[in-house]
Amino acid sequence: MNTSAKLPRIAIAGMAIESSTFSPHRAGERDFAVATGAELLNRYDAIREGTLGTAAEWIPVHYARSIPGGAVLREVYEGHKAAILAGLTEAVATGPLDGLFFDIHGAMSVDGLDDAEGDLIRAVREVIGQDTLVSASMDLHGNVSRDLIENVNLITCYRLAPHEDTWETRDRALTNLVNALEARNPALHTAWVRVPILLPGEKTSTRVEPAKSLYRRIDEIETRPGVIDAAIWIGYAWADEPRCHGTVVVSGTDEAQTAAAAEELGRAFWDARDDFEFVGPPGTLDEGVAAGLAATKTPYLISDSGDNPGAGGTGDVTWTLARLLDMPELTAEDAPLTYVGSIFDAAALAELRTLNAGDPVDITAGAGVDSGPAGPVRIVGTLESLTEGDPDGGGIAVIRVGGIRAIVTEFRKAYHATSDYAQIGLDPHQAQLIVTKIGYLEPTLYDIAEGWTLALTPGGVDQDLERLGHHRIQRPMFPFDDFATDPDLRAEIIR
Ligand SMILES: [Zn+2]
Repeated sequence: MNTSAKLPRIAIAGMAIESSTFSPHRAGERDFAVATGAELLNRYDAIREGTLGTAAEWIPVHYARSIPGGAVLREVYEGHKAAILAGLTEAVATGPLDGLFFDIHGAMSVDGLDDAEGDLIRAVREVIGQDTLVSASMDLHGNVSRDLIENVNLITCYRLAPHEDTWETRDRALTNLVNALEARNPALHTAWVRVPILLPGEKTSTRVEPAKSLYRRIDEIETRPGVIDAAIWIGYAWADEPRCHGTVVVSGTDEAQTAAAAEELGRAFWDARDDFEFVGPPGTLDEGVAAGLAATKTPYLISDSGDNPGAGGTGDVTWTLARLLDMPELTAEDAPLTYVGSIFDAAALAELRTLNAGDPVDITAGAGVDSGPAGPVRIVGTLESLTEGDPDGGGIAVIRVGGIRAIVTEFRKAYHATSDYAQIGLDPHQAQLIVTKIGYLEPTLYDIAEGWTLALTPGGVDQDLERLGHHRIQRPMFPFDDFATDPDLRAEIIR
């Protein structure tokens, strides 16, 4: 701990991805964007513009982030881990570190590891020692293993799903860390409750009950003396790992208060278990299309939820597009406008690059990575447009088949915002139907949707968890098992 009048020295490091172990996709080097130096510091509002900028000597080390996907290739993980450890080794060589901001998602899977974040923080502790205060910021869809909680001093996560509070959460974790260092209070306690519930994010959105009220309880709990932060993790349902389950952690300076608050939230989470339901009206793809075609107010949104890249789906599952292309009511020349976002296939894109807009198209595409639900889909139509240089998708083609506008990208890309469509000349307001690989609707799509079906389609992030088959989670687990008696929801005081 810093004892002179000098500013505390706080390092920043982390690695973030949400990985479905049911997806055949493997996250490689190209999937990760790295931030170091000023770029890393400038990510955080509280440091860039707020009072925290001058509250510490900030040491930006290494932060790697990928959009969700499958498990991370082991050598790619080891590379980023080595960069983090090297940066921290360099930092401690010039003096002790007072703090570390550990910026993670919490649902990273790595080939050959059961608890990637636990592995990373253990290795970090070996470099920085036990006296450095570590404050972690996470996604509420992350997992908090014993290894992770035992190696951090403060930990928090988002309180909104969709995550409209991502930066607010990081700022809170940073502020909690700086305040704890300023208070020089060594007696920080964390109370941890494992809640044996594993549900998809689409059943636990904070836009609706019971998650809405559950998360709102945090506001009052945080006003209690001796409580610094309270956090509830829904956990990540698409990884088959022992650490996947709900968790509550309360941090503070008063051991009894933190334990009581953690047990209260854990009990409230457990008691609400039967009330979690899909945030949108669930249905089959066919039901969604029928409802969308009958809708008088448009656009009508259909979530192709089983292959949502935002949750870890591969993004090249063809099952939905193939089925839509088989529907004459969508492919007739006068059929209503239907946008279908998207599948990726670099080879198909290369073929499409030899054509001009207006040329006839006859290609097969998709299912290059995830061919589980369906094989490559044949698309026979007309090339509407080809756009180059998208930072995520690379080249992007729009192929017209009657009313359908099928989007084929070179690389993985999620169509989660109205701007994603607008950028390739597709005005979302013009469409009767927008079928997109997403779960619950992200804000801009949510705002324009005049109707919505959460289509329960197949893929690596299938909403039907039983259809996927978990073998390695701790049992019993709600909703997989019946509970003869209530689980042990007593808080464990970690420190
Ligand atoms: Zn999340």
